[in-house]
Amino acid sequence: MSRSRLHGTSAGKASAFDFLDRNATALGELSDALFYFAEPSLEEYQSSALLAELLEEEGFVVERGISGFPTGFMAVRGEGGPVIALHAEYDACPQNSQRPGVLHREEMVKGAPGHCEGHNGNGAVMVAAAIAVKRAMDEGHVQGTLKVFGAPAEELTLSRPYFVRDGYFDDVDAAFHNHIGAEFSTEYGLAQISALSADFEFAGTSAHAGISPWEGCDALDAVVLMDAGIAQYREHMKPQMRAHRVITNGGEQPNVIPNRASAWWCFRDPTASGVREVFERAKRIGQGAAMMTDTELTIRLRSAVWPVRCNETLARLLQSNMDIVGMPAWTEEEQAFAKSLQETIGKPGIGLNAEINPLRGPRLEPLAASNDCGDISWKVPMGRVWWPGTVPGTVFHHWSGGVPLTTSITHRGALAGAKVLAGAVIDCMDDPAVVEDAQRTFRKEIADTQYEPLVPASHRPDIATHRGLTTKYGPLQEPFYRTTKPVFS
Ligand SMILES: [Zn+2]
Repeated sequence: MSRSRLHGTSAGKASAFDFLDRNATALGELSDALFYFAEPSLEEYQSSALLAELLEEEGFVVERGISGFPTGFMAVRGEGGPVIALHAEYDACPQNSQRPGVLHREEMVKGAPGHCEGHNGNGAVMVAAAIAVKRAMDEGHVQGTLKVFGAPAEELTLSRPYFVRDGYFDDVDAAFHNHIGAEFSTEYGLAQISALSADFEFAGTSAHAGISPWEGCDALDAVVLMDAGIAQYREHMKPQMRAHRVITNGGEQPNVIPNRASAWWCFRDPTASGVREVFERAKRIGQGAAMMTDTELTIRLRSAVWPVRCNETLARLLQSNMDIVGMPAWTEEEQAFAKSLQETIGKPGIGLNAEINPLRGPRLEPLAASNDCGDISWKVPMGRVWWPGTVPGTVFHHWSGGVPLTTSITHRGALAGAKVLAGAVIDCMDDPAVVEDAQRTFRKEIADTQYEPLVPASHRPDIATHRGLTTKYGPLQEPFYRTTKPVFS
């Protein structure tokens, strides 16, 4: 057992923890700044600009707009091996505007996007941890290369497969992700499932629906028939397969036979090959619907991600750092706030978790949700820490998930998360045996699975998905923006 895994302490880590303690306010301010920007997927212009700018000011070399994502970036510092990557998201969700700190549903801007999952904290934790590691590098405690990836549009499971496809992870030895949670935990094994989403657009012929419907080819009929076809197919799906959709265009008014109609479908399976299988089947069902209605089908891929798997070595490393950092000692006020929120939403008033979770793994039953960091986790060993920044019982994408996000619960949870992340990176840089062991267990874990991106080689992301939300709500959100820029000193 190496020194870092056995003892868990080193001069580099002490320096990073000290830096983070001294900069706890800046970390909280950064998380809050992103909270109030509240930018939905692909619209994270201000959030990504602030994160990238802070890294650049610290001496990282920043490449913006990577893989065709204007709100994506890579920031690099250091040289030589090991090459360690940090990656995190910072997008908000549509319709999730919520005033933080209040115990009821209250939109800051009616109908606007908002943070109700805590990705504001994820981005802030990543950047604070990166700066802490960089300072430890500057002080000569550790060496290597740190690559920090700003990953847009997690809520559309979008960007990271493109980063992997485009070679940004080719030289990476190990990668870490962080996510807010109600628990302080980490895991190894299969954590989340694969997903693919695509638009199915049918083109037909308009006609007067009263006078001459026989002249029309109804594109909406095709959407409905495809829906019926998938509903019949459901009986034959394997238990963990999923298919869900929204109708994105159902025509304009009923007296005009719609010549265009479309549905946005999302398919899921624990394996990438299973997702391919259900997508191929859906394509044939869509083509059948087009044939029945004499319409033409165009399919446009939106996103495609591998399942998320976490590496055992890196999970143990994160756990050992969690043991050192420990759960924040929640105050009576924080506990009382958590209990009140829980009772307000009809959940047991159990308050905040007092202990870190034991290591979970090997996980064989993944969560039926997806994350676009999945592709990274099949390319290189990946670890993920869930840091305790939200209240047990609150629900992501529900207003209750937004309530704690600018309180000391999120701020102190984020500080603990940033320490664990920085500690794990420093361990990797401090002791080559850690990365070697991660590579060894990674090869064993993926065995003969051949990673190949589900995203085709020539595919370009559609970056305009939520442009309308920014046009509509951006000016109304602006009065809420924080006016002080966080300073890490
Ligand atoms: Zn998330």
